[in-house]
Parts: sequence; C-alpha cells; structure tokens
Amino acid sequence: MPVLDYRLTQEHETLRKTVAEFAHDVVAPVIAEYYERDEFPYDIVRQMGELGLFGLPFPEEYGGMGGDYLALCLAIEELARVDSSVAITLEAAVSLGAMPIYRFGTEEQKRTWLPKLCSGEMLGAFGLTEPGGGSDAGATRTTARLENGEWVINGTKAFITNSGTDITGLVTVTAVTGVGEDGRKEISSIIVPSGTPGFTVSKKYSKVGWNASDTRELSFDDCRVPEANLLGERGRGYAQFLQILDEGRIAIAALATGLAQGCVDESVKYAKERQAFGQPIGKYQAIQFKIADMETRAHTARLAWYRAAEKMLRGEPFKKEAAIAKLYSSEIAVTNAREATQIHGGYGFMNEFPVARMWRDAKILEIGEGTSEVQRMLIARELGL
Ligand SMILES: Cc1cc2nc3c(=O)[nH]c(=O)nc-3n(C[C@H](O)[C@H](O)[C@H](O)COP(=O)(O)OP(=O)(O)OC[C@H]3O[C@@H](n4cnc5c(N)ncnc54)[C@H](O)[C@@H]3O)c2cc1C
Repeated sequence: MPVLDYRLTQEHETLRKTVAEFAHDVVAPVIAEYYERDEFPYDIVRQMGELGLFGLPFPEEYGGMGGDYLALCLAIEELARVDSSVAITLEAAVSLGAMPIYRFGTEEQKRTWLPKLCSGEMLGAFGLTEPGGGSDAGATRTTARLENGEWVINGTKAFITNSGTDITGLVTVTAVTGVGEDGRKEISSIIVPSGTPGFTVSKKYSKVGWNASDTRELSFDDCRVPEANLLGERGRGYAQFLQILDEGRIAIAALATGLAQGCVDESVKYAKERQAFGQPIGKYQAIQFKIADMETRAHTARLAWYRAAEKMLRGEPFKKEAAIAKLYSSEIAVTNAREATQIHGGYGFMNEFPVARMWRDAKILEIGEGTSEVQRMLIARELGL
C-alpha cells in the first residue's frame, strides 16, 4: 500500500543542511552591504558555483550534480530563508537560464553551454517579458527573420534577471518567427550569446527589492545569430516557455516559502530579546499568535510546493499544483514579511534588519513568473472554467 511520505532522503537532507549553513555563514554576514549598494554578489555566486548549486538538477555528463528539481528547490528555499537576491539569482540561472537548453537543446547546444552554466562560471537568462506586457506573453512583438543562414532579431525585452552581469553568457529570447497555419503568431526560442553585435543590455533598473540581483532591459537591433541557435523546434517557443514556467513556479514557491520561514526565524529571535513593559515581547499572546500564524503559513506553503514537486518528479501533470503553490506561497510571503516587520517595530523599518529586506523582497513574488491573477486564471482553467 503506498504511503504518503514527505520525509527527505538522506541526500536531500544533507544538501538542505549544507545550503542552510552556507546561507548562514557566507551570505548572511555580507549580503546587506551588497543590497545597500545595489551590487551583484560575485563572490557569493562564485562560492555557490563551487558548491555545485548551479548544476544541481543536471546530469553529470553535462557538468551537473546528477540531482533533481527537488534538490534545486530545497537549495533555493534555504537561501531565501536568509536572502532572496541570492536565491533568485540561482533560481533564474538554473530554471530559466540553463533548463531550457537542457530540456530543448540539441546535443551540441547542451555540450557548448551546460558545463559552464552548471559550474556557475557563466549565467544564463530567459527573455520572455517585453515592455508592452508579460502576462500576455503570446503577444510577443520581438521578431526574428531568417536571412542567409542567420536569425536577425529586433525588439526589446523587459525585466530580465541575470542578463547583464559580467558572467552572463547568454539569453534565450522568444521571438515571432512567422505566422502559423492557423494565422496565429509562430513563436520560437533563440539563444543569443552575450556580446553579440546588435544586442544591447541597459543599465540596471532601480528596484524596490531584490537589490543584489541583476535585472535589465535588453534591446535587439538587427542582432544576428547563427540559424543553429534556434532552441528546440521552430514554432514551439510558446509551448516551451509554458513548460519552463510551470516548473519555475515550483522553484518560486520554494523561494517564497524560504522568505516566509526566514520571517519566522527573525521574529522568534527578536521576540525573545526585545523587552516591553518589563518582559520580552514574545511573552505577549498577541506576538505569539502572530508568529504561530506565520509558522502555519510557511509550513502550509512548503507542503504545497512539495506536493507540486512530487507530482512533477513522478511525471504526473502538475500545472494546477504548481500554480497553487506559487499563488499561496507568494501571498503568504507578503503577509509574513508584513507581520515580521510589525513585530520588529521601528527597527523593522530599518534596512539593517533582515526583515526590512524581506518586506521589500516579498512583493515581487506576487508578480514575477506569473502574477497572482495569472495563477488564479490557470487554477480556474484546470478546474474546467
Ligand atoms: C525583478 C523582476 C525580475 C523579472 N525577471 C524576469 C525574467 O528573468 N524573464 C522574464 O521574461 N520576465 C521577468 N520578469 C517579468 C515578470 O515575469 C512580469 O513582470 C510579470 O509576468 C507580469 O507582467 P507585466 O509586468 O507586463 O504585467 P502585465 O502583464 O501588464 O499585468 C499588469 C496587471 O494586470 C493583470 N492582468 C493581466 N492580464 C490579466 C487578465 N487576463 N485578467 C486579470 N488580470 C490581468 C496582472 O495580473 C497585473 O496585475 C521580471 C520582473 C521583475 C519585476
């Protein structure tokens, strides 16, 4: 008889602990300074590469660690418990940067790109969103026409993570490559190496949160890449990115769960230390109940993403579970961050306190990789509405 068992294997548990220690010992002491300076944490990313985090779900033959998507999500959750900029750098590099190449690339593309992406020497990015809209991604305006064995790309992509660091090696962009038989836009994915003439990376956006993560606008002006840079089948770009986003939602749910749990960690610590009216604030039931509710939400969010990951690993449809996990965990991350800030009183509004960073970092979780409205649309659609 099958047993419902969400205990982690020894390997997964060891990985989780290793990343938790890394987040505590390496990330926590320095990340506030990077954040304050809006600076990409190259040194931390290099050490994440040495730990093998960028190669977690990929086979060893491509330089990966031979793990699975669950391993990646566990690492993301533990990083986000301490800092979300670092966690999203890993999430975007693996699930948006390298994964499309692993899932849809030719053998040659995999051998060319994956070893460097897996080692963290190089970061990949995924350019889907455009200034004119992200939710309606099928309305892509960027075009690519085939000319003398080359794709000539024109258009603009907005808000692309990891796209302009010194170690960014490529961005996979979606572009309209023609019109299908049904009269709809034919969308394909194309790999554009960094530094290709005609490909310009803007300066970093000034953001509310994720300040130590790299986010840029990209423009393509008669940018030419070889025909062989097509990723996957021509015209399958839309289906490919839907698949990538379904998986990515589990990773974002893990990230949101980590942030929500980090809010609990910080609040418990602070509630034991901070005195008011002659005793630690943690002695007051009002504070205890807030923290108990925060823990309940983080715990439930974790179960939601575990369930989605379990279905994915079993090879079962997981679209609805991934959307539920992403929707729930991102909304409770915002709630937990607000409550953690409240528990910290005035200090919660000071950037030097981790909860202030968590509060600033939480909101984007309800927007990136599909807004909460889009998740609700997906869930309703899965229910046949
Ligand atoms: C920091 C950051 C990093 C990002 N990284 C990446 C990246 O690496 N790659 C990438 O491709 N994109 C990235 N994005 C883009 C992100 O995925 C989009 O911002 C998101 O999908 C929403 O798209 P939009 O901003 O164009 O909003 P819009 O699509 O314009 O939506 C605006 C509002 O309208 C709502 N809405 C839209 N359509 C409907 C509807 N049918 N019914 C109800 N409500 C609707 C939305 O939910 C939202 O509230 C990033 C964004 C940020 C801010």
